[in-house]
Amino acid sequence: MEIKLKIAEALIPGIDCSKPLMIAGPCSAETEEQVMEAARQVASLGIKVFRAGIWKPRTRPNVFEGVGSEGLVWLRRVKEETRMKVATEVANVKHVYEALKNGVDVLWIGARTTANPFAVQEIADSLRGVDVTVLVKNPVNPDVELWVGALERVNAAGITHIGAVHRGFSSYGKSNYRNDPHWQIPIELRRRIPGLPIINDPSHISGKRELIMELCQTAIDLDFDGLIVETHCDPDHAWSDAAQQVTPQHLEYIIKNLVLRKQKVDNRNAVTLEELRMQIDKLDDEVLQIMEQRMLVAEKIGMFKKENNVTILQSKRWTELLKKRINAGMSKGLGEEFVKKIYSAIHEESIQHQKMVMNR
Ligand code: PEP
Ligand code: MN
Repeated sequence: MEIKLKIAEALIPGIDCSKPLMIAGPCSAETEEQVMEAARQVASLGIKVFRAGIWKPRTRPNVFEGVGSEGLVWLRRVKEETRMKVATEVANVKHVYEALKNGVDVLWIGARTTANPFAVQEIADSLRGVDVTVLVKNPVNPDVELWVGALERVNAAGITHIGAVHRGFSSYGKSNYRNDPHWQIPIELRRRIPGLPIINDPSHISGKRELIMELCQTAIDLDFDGLIVETHCDPDHAWSDAAQQVTPQHLEYIIKNLVLRKQKVDNRNAVTLEELRMQIDKLDDEVLQIMEQRMLVAEKIGMFKKENNVTILQSKRWTELLKKRINAGMSKGLGEEFVKKIYSAIHEESIQHQKMVMNR
């Protein structure tokens, strides 16, 4: 079902918001000098929006949790000296109050906060009658409904300068990413709320600066509206998220080398051919990853069978499995022959892997 939000023309009034809207700055404001140095360098790249976390939600206690309100004075100085707009995270009503008092132009609701409807509602209520831009990060869990719900709460409070930030989703176990991108979720968000600006946050997806460039390109290829990139003059010594922050020089390289895509159609809501192909590529990637996992399990079964001295082929189990898979596949609109073929191929490959283990 499509959801109608009241969305203003420009995400951030007073600046050119054409695609890709770039937002950059450190994960955290650390000292006045660090903030001013980063701001000057970011501004010199032509970037119009500066980010810096003042209050930092950290997973574990007893680490740096942000400088607090003191840092808002530095952001005011950034505005005055560079003319950039400034953005920071708010997680409660006090943060909203302090940020607005100090002229912060863009508030973002962090991933952990988006996951909590009570917190989002309190923030939304505190924004009634205020003219500020609000970005809602995706919740930490891959739940598009929860993301939509947070956007609805903020919009219902009268915030029309509203956008979403895609920062990836936490997962259990090994992954190449700090937070898995699950690109199909922001794509679904766009389908659900046409016209909503969506900004990609490659920093929190990747967790490491080496991946930032390719993530930015993927976001551009998928027609995201902007990028928010954590940028620090001395990233290795950053007080938070050191591994994922880039230097202003690195950011300049990224901006210069990004291949911008023309939109094939005028309507920003239409799903383009490129988008669909990207979705296919991502899904195929997932299919292969799942196959890899499946074969690892098959190998464990092989070990078990070897230890217990039983045959690889258990034909009763195979017949039952195939029947179940065909039914499940057909209920998903897949052809019987097709399901039979892929499962025969998968089964054959599983047997190969089990044989390999048993003959080792
Ligand atoms: C951040 O932007 O620095 C941050 C804490 O983000 P997230 O809410 O995405 O973890
Ligand atoms: Mn960060």
